[in-house]
Amino acid sequence: MPFITKTFYSIEDLIGHIQGHKPSFYFSSKTSTVIPYDKIEALLPWKEGEYFLCDLSKLPSSMELKENGNLVLRGAVSWEDAKKFLRSNGRNLKTSPTEQLALITAGIATSCTGERCFGFGNMRSQVVSLKYLNYEGKEKTLHRDSNFNTASSHLKTYQQEFNAYQNFKNAPYPRFEKETDLMIGTEGQLGIVTEVEIETTENFDLTYVFMLLPRWETDYTPHLEIFKAVQDKRDAILSCELLDSNCMNYLKADEKLGTNQDVIFLEVRTDRFEEIYSEVLCGLNLTSAENVFEIAENKFHHVRAGVPRAIFEENSKMGVVKVGTDCQVSGEKFKDLLNFYREAAQIGVRYCLFGHFGDAHLHYNYMPTKEQTPQCLDKFQALYNKVHEWHGSPFAEHGIGLIKQKYIKKFHGPHQAGLFMDLKKEHDPHGQFFPQGFMNPEL
Ligand SMILES: Cc1cc2nc3c(=O)[nH]c(=O)nc-3n(C[C@H](O)[C@H](O)[C@H](O)COP(=O)(O)OP(=O)(O)OC[C@H]3O[C@@H](n4cnc5c(N)ncnc54)[C@H](O)[C@@H]3O)c2cc1C
Repeated sequence: MPFITKTFYSIEDLIGHIQGHKPSFYFSSKTSTVIPYDKIEALLPWKEGEYFLCDLSKLPSSMELKENGNLVLRGAVSWEDAKKFLRSNGRNLKTSPTEQLALITAGIATSCTGERCFGFGNMRSQVVSLKYLNYEGKEKTLHRDSNFNTASSHLKTYQQEFNAYQNFKNAPYPRFEKETDLMIGTEGQLGIVTEVEIETTENFDLTYVFMLLPRWETDYTPHLEIFKAVQDKRDAILSCELLDSNCMNYLKADEKLGTNQDVIFLEVRTDRFEEIYSEVLCGLNLTSAENVFEIAENKFHHVRAGVPRAIFEENSKMGVVKVGTDCQVSGEKFKDLLNFYREAAQIGVRYCLFGHFGDAHLHYNYMPTKEQTPQCLDKFQALYNKVHEWHGSPFAEHGIGLIKQKYIKKFHGPHQAGLFMDLKKEHDPHGQFFPQGFMNPEL
């Protein structure tokens, strides 16, 4: 068995391992939905020599709040830890991924986003600087204020081609515009992130509301009316999330909302709530005020996170690798995406739809048996063909990992593949950082 698991309790141990240049996959909280951790040894194609599975979740951690409100964190700090720390200091996070147990350093690697991306934009834009260990085990610092730099002749065209995806949370390939982008969305293929400085926000009082809607399968016009109404209120509405009626089956009886209805949640600044109530909620023609309810913050998070966690667990129990989507499309194509999902719902496999509704970014999940999995995968291949045609983003926040590699190829042309190859040569000359990742030209 070539796989050896190693846990690091100090940066010095980690540096020592990196200096050995052994092929390794580094992981943090293991919440990635595109790395099937329970089957990783079978899915990492590795036959020659030792291969290391490196656990970063036990690295010593620290947090410091700077006078300008930026948070500097080092080591194994989760979103949950950072939120608690910031709130006790009158601040809060601008990024709020649904899975709060994930580590922030890993969130750099996956170019994590989340619910509050609606109000504050993507995490990438909030990273002021970061530190990483390079292939020699040296800690290097990258700054947002400096431009991305490489000798590769592909960079200019790569950056021009990226412009088509400017308005998406994440494109089918990393941004590579600022120096910090070397580590953002490159999934640990060019070095290991050790420290991050991120912007934070004032800890506003928040009001959470939800609206009960008809099932999107029969009528999504009320949903689209809300989608349109919230777009220019992003400074007051921080999140706009959907759980469809099928998601409610994953909650306990006393947690379920509505009766066979879809639910859209809004996270609103309390000091702006009156305005949102009168200008957005009362302005809706297709959702009556009787169907708008307040919900406690902890219940919102519990219900919102409970659904994807339960699906994840159910798929693991069924022995199937996650069959879910992570596509974001433009507002103009949102209806087309919903129509595609309507058709996908017809194949006789259990499904549910949830996610970051305000950003036209939804996760459609099948819960197939092993026998049903191939037809679900065929449907998703058809979806990725459509997303390509619509110039949408196929994987807007969970990354590519191992599971999505077969679908991403279509979105990468010669300049993407060329730049990946040059960056791998420059930053990973021994092929030691996740050699099976999407930047490998042979995959
Ligand atoms: C219920 C649920 C909800 C989720 N919601 C969201 C969401 O709202 N938004 C979102 O973006 N994602 C979401 N995710 C996906 C996942 O939480 C993120 O991708 C997260 O960033 C992974 O963090 P982790 O600590 O678990 O990393 P891991 O799963 O351990 O690793 C993920 C990747 O990062 C690399 N990596 C890890 N640590 C480092 C490091 N220090 N340096 C370099 N590379 C590293 C690994 O090699 C791997 O490629 C969700 C997942 C679940 C299960």
